[in-house]
Amino acid sequence: MVRGGEPIVYLDHAATTPCDPRVTAAMAAVYAEPLGNPHALHHAPGRRAAQLVAEARERIARAVGADPDDVVLTSGATESNNLAIAGTRGAVLTCRTEHASVLRPCERQINLGARVDHVPTDRFGRVDVAAVAAALHAETRLVSLMWVNNELGTVHDIAAIGRLVRAHDALLHVDASQAVGRVPVDMAACDVDLLTLSGHKIYGPHGTGALVVGPRARERGLAPLFAGGAQQDGLRAGTVNVVGALGLGMACELASTDRAFAGAAATELAARIRGWLAELAGARCLSPPDAVPGLVGVAFDGIDASDLLACLEGVAISAHAACHDDPARTSHVLEAIGVPREIATGAVRISVGRATTRDELDAGLAEIAEKVTFLRALRGAPRAVATRNSDAKEDSYG
Ligand code: PMP
Repeated sequence: MVRGGEPIVYLDHAATTPCDPRVTAAMAAVYAEPLGNPHALHHAPGRRAAQLVAEARERIARAVGADPDDVVLTSGATESNNLAIAGTRGAVLTCRTEHASVLRPCERQINLGARVDHVPTDRFGRVDVAAVAAALHAETRLVSLMWVNNELGTVHDIAAIGRLVRAHDALLHVDASQAVGRVPVDMAACDVDLLTLSGHKIYGPHGTGALVVGPRARERGLAPLFAGGAQQDGLRAGTVNVVGALGLGMACELASTDRAFAGAAATELAARIRGWLAELAGARCLSPPDAVPGLVGVAFDGIDASDLLACLEGVAISAHAACHDDPARTSHVLEAIGVPREIATGAVRISVGRATTRDELDAGLAEIAEKVTFLRALRGAPRAVATRNSDAKEDSYG
């Protein structure tokens, strides 16, 4: 990847994946067409736009085990999560390692008088199905849990949670932004009622996403976020982003058919990152051993992650979710799983993608190690909070 003319090793795919060239080419081709409003079906340019949207819905639905009519196109995962939570109304069960776009709408629900409970997680941000069962109560209307955590790569057992939530007659909303293309996502098979998708996490365009609203959620009624026209069955007012929908649809199709970044290559690269960490003094892995391939949360003792990010020149990584509310704060996810503040301060996320090569990764990791050493020397910081060995790295904070 090239940044401002300079080549850069891009290891921040959990924040955004570059748009796949097959997706950009397809989008460019339809941008050249005289498209009408996809809701103006009385003329040919409108019908052509509507046809493109219908094809996009089919691709999205096929990738996640849903019906094309269930797909509500949005501006991204943030909007989809807000729609699912604010739109359902009523008591919610979630957990503290969710993305801000789930936690903040839940806070709004509390301010509106709704009850919100949080299921405890383990040290990797994983909820136990028995804990979900224990936390469900008579009023629980919606359970909202992510499929794959964006900072740790932790995978939830959505099939088991889905069975439980359905037996309880509540609805299950799953933020699958980081899951599509990394783990099999099948709403019907896993009893998921509402599913959030984001285009720019799966090699599609920024500013695109969907909330897939299954039949049970539709029957119970979902209140729209926006007041306006009756587009998308009144669930999302506003003219659909036709070219964005096409890009999202293609990205979903490629993610499910061409699972390159979930496969052997990503697994091998992630193992390389973990091997590198094990050799590095004062470094630890925060992700569980069975995290999705390609995403590793790490922490370096004795440095501030924001200093590290500021001095990296040839490699792109991030400290935590790019949309974290306050960059001066450490990650709420690490706080929730009990990582002490002095360790969380030095935490970053390394995430590889479809095009990452072994040589590129090695070059990126070498620069990170070099800058960590440099910063420690500069601060005269202790070289390590824990001892230098691979198992200490995973549990030394208890
Ligand atoms: N949920 C998760 C799990 C995410 O990783 C992100 C992006 N950081 C979002 C929601 C928000 O996505 P978007 O940028 O599409 O609003």
